[in-house]
Amino acid sequence: MLLACSNEHSSKVETSPKSATEQIDSAKTSTTKDTTTVRKNSAVAMVSKPIVFDTTKKYIYLTFDDGPQNGTQICVNICKELGTKATFFMVGEHACSPKTNHLVDTIRGAYPFFLLANHSYSHAKGQYHKFYNHPQSAAEDFYATQQKLHVPFPIIRLPGNSAWVRKGEIKASGLVKPVCKLLDSAGYNVIGWDAEWEFTRDKHCFPRQSVSKMLATVAKNFENNDMHTKNHLVILTHDRMFQHQPYSDSLYNFIKALKQNPNYVFETVDHYPGLK
Ligand SMILES: [Zn+2]
Repeated sequence: MLLACSNEHSSKVETSPKSATEQIDSAKTSTTKDTTTVRKNSAVAMVSKPIVFDTTKKYIYLTFDDGPQNGTQICVNICKELGTKATFFMVGEHACSPKTNHLVDTIRGAYPFFLLANHSYSHAKGQYHKFYNHPQSAAEDFYATQQKLHVPFPIIRLPGNSAWVRKGEIKASGLVKPVCKLLDSAGYNVIGWDAEWEFTRDKHCFPRQSVSKMLATVAKNFENNDMHTKNHLVILTHDRMFQHQPYSDSLYNFIKALKQNPNYVFETVDHYPGLK
């Protein structure tokens, strides 16, 4: 279940299609305005340090979508406890209260351990065809979240659709290709996923696969090179799946088991190969 939020921001949405770099520059400029802005925008100016990949290792990018929502804090706590890097693709509209804003600030401030990334403002209001059939307004939906949440890097995940936009590459279905082209031109990367820990499509949002099934899936994906980039596996989960026992334990046990494999390395998606 999502935290109750009113759509209080629609009248405040910044709709100018600034490039990611322009948005970051504008955020840097605004740091002189007041101390609150300075604190929030200092994260926007962060630089992702390139890493040297170890070719003997297999990289796992654990991603949590749709926060801030019920379950986000639990995911944060579990990853912290286990010392695991993770990426949170967050929805601008879900940051609508002191509690949810604090969650966003916590995750943004925990870089490079956690990465805050952009998962749209409205989550397409669940109407994906309508959303993607209007690519300009869809792109503006992402720009609005970039500004509202002070997302530190131009990294987006599309709601309801796995697409990839990197340096010199767009891999996307016909439905989302137009918005991917706009986002590419504006300097954004788009990250899809290779494996999903699915959930029941009811009010409970319980994980559908067991921990052992998910561990087997990860192993199989690496074994068969069934992923967008060899040796780099992006796993999609959703914060709300783990908000209750025993499923918070499932997340804990899944990560703990993965960490016991010395070949696996957890990274945040700003280090995914080939990004702009
Ligand atoms: Zn989503």
